[in-house]
Amino acid sequence: MEIDKKFIEKQKKSLLLEKEKLEKKIKKLDEFPEYGRGDDDSAREFSDFENNQSIEFQLKELLKKIKTALRAIEKGTYGKCSICKKEIESGRLESMPYANVCVSCKKNGKK
Ligand SMILES: [Zn+2]
Repeated sequence: MEIDKKFIEKQKKSLLLEKEKLEKKIKKLDEFPEYGRGDDDSAREFSDFENNQSIEFQLKELLKKIKTALRAIEKGTYGKCSICKKEIESGRLESMPYANVCVSCKKNGKK
């Protein structure tokens, strides 16, 4: 296996850190769902609310990916592309520790 333990250890740390940050953000959004604080323009309030909902959705999606990556570390399958099963480029993993597909599969359009 090309990816060494030290690297995985580092990835795990940044994943855990990221997970913590995300969970805090999601909690905040749950506590204060109305971002529009007293604005008279109700249309804008509505779109703020919509916006908030989609932010929360995105954060939760990201959290899911991070949890999946952490599980993969436990199982020893971390760093493998979920589509072609090849190893994901370490540069890509460094900038996106939760990446679950390699660069070429990503380019092929499947997310
Ligand atoms: Zn791939």
